[in-house]
Order: sequence, then structure tokens, then C-alpha cells
Amino acid sequence: MSEFIPYGRQWIDDDDVAAVADVLRSDWLTTGPKVAEFEAALAACGGTRYAVAYCNGTAALHGMMFALDIGPGDEVIVPALTFAATANAVVYQGGTPVFADVDPDTLLMDPASVSARITARTRAIIAVDYAGQPCDYDALQSLADRHGLALLADACHALGGSYRGRRAGSLARMTAFSFHPVKTIACGEGGAVTTDDADLNARLRLFRNHGISTDHRQREAAGAWYYEMVELGYNYRLSDIHCALGLSQLAKLPRFLERRRAIARRYDAAFAGSTNLQPLARQDNVEHAYHLYVVRLPERDAAFATLRRQGIGVNVHYVPVHLHPFYRQRFGTAAGLCPVAEQAYRHILSLPIYPGLSDADQTRVLGAVRSVGESTDQKKLAG
Ligand SMILES: *Cc1c(COP(=O)(O)O)cnc(C)c1O
Repeated sequence: MSEFIPYGRQWIDDDDVAAVADVLRSDWLTTGPKVAEFEAALAACGGTRYAVAYCNGTAALHGMMFALDIGPGDEVIVPALTFAATANAVVYQGGTPVFADVDPDTLLMDPASVSARITARTRAIIAVDYAGQPCDYDALQSLADRHGLALLADACHALGGSYRGRRAGSLARMTAFSFHPVKTIACGEGGAVTTDDADLNARLRLFRNHGISTDHRQREAAGAWYYEMVELGYNYRLSDIHCALGLSQLAKLPRFLERRRAIARRYDAAFAGSTNLQPLARQDNVEHAYHLYVVRLPERDAAFATLRRQGIGVNVHYVPVHLHPFYRQRFGTAAGLCPVAEQAYRHILSLPIYPGLSDADQTRVLGAVRSVGESTDQKKLAG
């Protein structure tokens, strides 16, 4: 039996290990200088004035909902095809997530569906750069402007991506990132929000630190014991240990992206002539970050089982969020709400893609996927 090939995994070098070890020997394990350093590097990477580190991408999304003051009665439009955390963040603040359908070719949030979901209660749109491809931000921004809504981004897949020459991080009023090991860079757990808005930056910082208006280091510098808790926040801080790893990883982002894109090109070329294996469409005005490489095939369930038996760690991203029992029960969502996402869900398969995937391993994946794709139990894709 050959070794199991996962769909994603981190790449850690000796200098990443050394960066973490240095922090462990330093004075500050948390709320120290590495946090500000990582934030500055992230802001530079996204091309924004501010970045606020959070303990994970989900907390970062929660922070964006707090910063916008989302609460009961407020609706926030999210795509149906995303990780549940995008919608959960709205619910944490008592808001109502409203699910928009996706484009059938890219599986990115469809601006026409977003437009149809806007009501007098809508406050914001959270665009999700599915698989690492930035959404159509011009279309979404003009919708948001026309209706006085905040356009936000869940770019947990898209660190290093860009849209019309503008980098992921600066394409919306606030953007959330994740540094989970399967994402583009790894902190272990980690996340951040980028923004150009000074007030939102202040609220994001307050929220990740219990709602307390100054942090430990600022107080120590002032020699003061007094602090005020002015809002109900959380402990959503990211430690210096994690930030040191994130900083070290961020320096490798260009290399990581280059390798992901090379793997994607090879998959594209291999599937170019296939009728049964259909990659997602790519917009030509974007730089794709390729967190995922998603292919559609007629009999996904059969293909998934066959490939997993062969040690190929294929996966499915995602179960449409409105079909989860929690959303059905709490918000009365049901099948039929987002037909394009529901149809796509039956056919999508995520193939292994990560910087450490060797050419030989990709050859093995390609052989197995092509043989499954051409097998007789894979009827032709309708349409
Ligand atoms: C990974 C991910 C998240 C959550 O990030 P965590 O760091 O795991 O909390 C949110 N949204 C999307 C689209 C993601 O892929």
C-alpha cells in the first residue's frame, strides 16, 4: 500500500522551527513584539493600513461582525458554498445569515443572487474567495454601494491572490484570513483581519482582548494598573509563538503560491481534453491562490470512495451551509434555496494540492483520478 496523500498540508522548514524556539526563550510568549511584527507584515502583504491578528479565522470573522455592530434583526448575505464558519460568525452576534447562490462555472458568490437577497434588513455581504480565486469584487462593490451595505471578504482561501491587480486583503472594507495548517501559510491555529479603516481597526483590537481598551504592554509602558472594559469582548488573541511561525511562513508565501500554481497548471493540462473531469472556470482578471483544486465529475461519491481506497486524500468542499441541520432548524433553510450550489455539491471533489506535493505524488494522483474519470460508471456530466 502506497503512502496516503492528503489534500493539503503545511510546509515547515528548520528556520520556522528556529523562529518559534527563539520566542520560547524570549520574555514574551503572548501580547509581545511578534504580534505587532506579524500584523505589520500582513498589512504589507494585503496592501492595507491595518492588520489585527486573531487566534483563528473563525474568530477573525466574528471580530468583523462585532466591528460592524451586527446584531439581532440584521441580515448578512453569505454564499451557500463555504465553510460553515462564514455564516456562524453572523449567528454569534445574533444576526441572520442569508444564503446567496453561486456561479455555476466558478462556484463564486453570484452577484445576481446577492442582489435578489437584499432586503431592508441587509447590513453586509461577506464574499468568499472559494478555492483561492477572488470573487467579482467590482460587481459586489457596486451592489454594496447602491444599497449602502458593507462589503466584507472571507479570504481564508486567498492569501496571496489578487483581483485586477489589487491584493486579497484590500478588496473589501474588512477581510478575514486563516492560518490553519491546510491554508496557504500555517500558524498552527491563527487568523487576522485586514482593513484601511482606523475605527474598525480599534474595534477589532478591543474585541479580541475582552473588550478592554488598553492591552497589557501599553499599561506596563504607562506604569498604570487601571483599565476599562467598555464592550463585551473575548480572548481571541494570537500568541507570539504563533505569530513568529506566521512571520517566518509569510516570507515563503511567494514560493508556496508558485508551487500551488504549478500543481494547478498540471491538473488543468491533464483535464483539458476530458469531458468527465471538469475543472472550475477561472476569471482572467485574477491571480488565483489555489488553496483548493476542485474538479467536477459525474459520480462524485463513487470516485471519492475509489480514490480514498487508493490512498488519495480527496475531499469535498463544502456541504452547502444552508443544508446543515443547525441552519434548517434555526433558520428554516431547505433544499431548493440555492440550486446551483446544491447541484455543484453533488459533483465537486478537491484534489491534493500543497507545496510539498511531489511531482511523483501528483503523477500518482493524476493516474488514479483519470482512471476513475474515464471509468464506465462515470456517466457524462449533464449540460
Ligand atoms: C478555514 C476557513 C475558515 C475558518 O478558519 P479557522 O482558522 O479554521 O477558524 C473560515 N472560512 C473559510 C472559507 C475557511 O476556509
